[in-house]
Amino acid sequence: MKAMFERRTTKQIHVGSIPVGGGSPITVQSMTTTKTADVEGTLQQIYALAAAGCDIVRCTCNEQEAAEGLAQIVPRSPLPIIADIHHQYKMALAAMEAGVAGLRLNPGNIRKPEHIKAVATEARDRKIPIRIGVNGGSLDPSLYEKHGGLTAAAMVESAMQEMAYFHEVDFDLMKISVKASNVPLMVEAYRMLSEQTDVPLHLGVTEAGPPPAGLVKATAGIAALLLEGIGDTIRYSLTADPVEEAIAGRTLLESLGLRERKNVDLIACPSCGRAEIDVIDVANRAMKAFADKKLPLQIAVMGCVVNGPGEAREADLGIAAGNKRGHLFVKGRNVAVVPESEMVEALVEWAEYINENGTEAAIARADTARAEREANKDRSAALQEKGDDANNANERIVEIRKVTGD
Ligand code: SF4
Repeated sequence: MKAMFERRTTKQIHVGSIPVGGGSPITVQSMTTTKTADVEGTLQQIYALAAAGCDIVRCTCNEQEAAEGLAQIVPRSPLPIIADIHHQYKMALAAMEAGVAGLRLNPGNIRKPEHIKAVATEARDRKIPIRIGVNGGSLDPSLYEKHGGLTAAAMVESAMQEMAYFHEVDFDLMKISVKASNVPLMVEAYRMLSEQTDVPLHLGVTEAGPPPAGLVKATAGIAALLLEGIGDTIRYSLTADPVEEAIAGRTLLESLGLRERKNVDLIACPSCGRAEIDVIDVANRAMKAFADKKLPLQIAVMGCVVNGPGEAREADLGIAAGNKRGHLFVKGRNVAVVPESEMVEALVEWAEYINENGTEAAIARADTARAEREANKDRSAALQEKGDDANNANERIVEIRKVTGD
């Protein structure tokens, strides 16, 4: 699926081997929650993040032990590592010495121009990109005062000031974020920033909180901007296992058509009185069964054979429950009928077959005539059970005609 909106043109930088900006695929980032000095624990988390679809990972470099940990983590990491620097510019120099692929500086925390320029000069010589990570919660107090509080303009000014220091030492391998925990404020700041620069932008709603509210907040802000073509790399800041951040980021990009699908897109009906199975349970079991399979297919789980197959006609593969049986369909064609207890297993088996051989081959191998006969039988049984005229339509029509005077 191709994205249906234009992306703004930005410059391209590279974080390790991963391109960011300049029309490259939008990347997913996350941050480890381990102590960076805990080399094995941090690497374990980085491997889990890579498996979940993360492209770039950030680790804190808040003390010397962390920088030393990074020196050991970098060569063993499957993802490029960005060191997050808080207050001490020397930690940025130490992280570069450790071999990181990028830095994140918060202009509100490292404020002395000579320190900023020392870091940028070193990064320039080593060709290491830096993210100017403005954060609404830690804005430079002088800007806070000048703008009468936390505003989009104040955050943008903070980013532009930092950029000016970088330019003074001829450094331009940068990307920028202007995160806030308030969604409309964050959206406004990124819009304003994207008018003023073609530096690649890293999107995020900071401190979004635990899911599901945090997921909704982050998605509201990030998706709104992506749909306007703004943003080159994203991070969900959730109070949760970072793997959830990576999954969320990946899912958002896939659902907007901004990244190739890697995993199953499971669509399922919300269930209603017609459902003949526990749709929530089957959908959850199917999600689990497909979690590690990396099948780029759309798969539908529908609660009944009356509306199910029609509503999921576009899916590569689907299953609808009817008369205590599961009706499998491929691109809307009935291909098999299986006992209810085997629905999830059958889905997995057919999905793997389709992934290897395509939907045409799956339809060709099926006894579609028989499957369609069985499906029709169950569909009419379901309709009979509810009655041909469950809404008393004939009586209602008489009443409607009385009201309209026909
Ligand atoms: S597919 Fe059937 S069970 Fe599911 S919401 Fe539609 S009518 Fe209800």
